[in-house]
Amino acid sequence: MPASATPDLTLYYPFEDKHFADHCFLCGTPTTPAEAVLVFDEWLLERYQLRGQQIQLLDQSVQAYENLRIPCCPSCRTRYVEPLEAQVQEAAQAGAAGLQALEEKTLFLWLGKMFYGILVLELLNELNPLIKPQYPLSENGQMLRRLQAFFQTFQALRVPIVFEDFTPASIFRLETDPGQDPIAFEYDDDLTTMTFSIKLDNTVLLACFIDNGLLRQAMRRVYQQAQRPLHPVQVAEFKARVYYGAHLLNVVPEYFPRPVQPGADHIVYDTLIDDITREIFNPWENSAYGQSLQQLWQRWQIPYTDIMRNPAQPLSYLYDAQGAPRTLTAFPEPTGK
Ligand SMILES: [Zn+2]
Repeated sequence: MPASATPDLTLYYPFEDKHFADHCFLCGTPTTPAEAVLVFDEWLLERYQLRGQQIQLLDQSVQAYENLRIPCCPSCRTRYVEPLEAQVQEAAQAGAAGLQALEEKTLFLWLGKMFYGILVLELLNELNPLIKPQYPLSENGQMLRRLQAFFQTFQALRVPIVFEDFTPASIFRLETDPGQDPIAFEYDDDLTTMTFSIKLDNTVLLACFIDNGLLRQAMRRVYQQAQRPLHPVQVAEFKARVYYGAHLLNVVPEYFPRPVQPGADHIVYDTLIDDITREIFNPWENSAYGQSLQQLWQRWQIPYTDIMRNPAQPLSYLYDAQGAPRTLTAFPEPTGK
């Protein structure tokens, strides 16, 4: 930003007035219907031929990627959204190494923009009297609290915010073995656990939002051992661990913006997690984790009974029976091995 420009340090709280329609998603300025940005940006639509492809939203409605737009004022679009998209596009063009080199905060904001965009569309749908979602977000108090907490950190896309001694999310980057991986683009999410994943060529990005990095800390060994070209079935297993782990997370961090001093050019956030009166994670249950595996392994049609053959140790392609990292050269593996 030019040295002369004083950054706008006004925080925005869209949840108080439920200003999701006709207001910029980042700053709340009233917008016209034409003032909007794509949830999945133009370059993604082009690069992965998503035009005409459909995505299923939480209310079970199916929409085309190119129709997923959220209100955004021209100033936020040109100053914050477009530069962010351009930066990630450039990194993606450089391949896995480019995406690995991106700063974590950039990825947090980029993944957060799509995640929040989908959530805004859900909330807008719920305001439509003709649509009756199965699980309305706006009536789920805990979900709304999480969303508000998320938005507090996510508005770092517009307001210069420094997170003091914490990262707001767990971000994971995995690489697939290109020889075993025919799928260029994939996207999935779990809005209730604030988890989002997107696959760009051989890179799989995963984010668990507002966990202050707790999940990544809990999974640090598995994550470290997964830093190698993986078979997609192994990536799916890693994702099952993230999705299930996020589901066990029992705390919602609180964020506290420090008072802004005159002349300040950024806001400092502190955070607090109540780990005194409650456990951070609920206990891990293999049977429930097995269901998560079954879901993520759908493409390979691995039956639940196979996954749970040993109830104390659900099926794994990341690790062998002795707990050592496995290398998969093919799936299914050649017999006689
Ligand atoms: Zn704006």
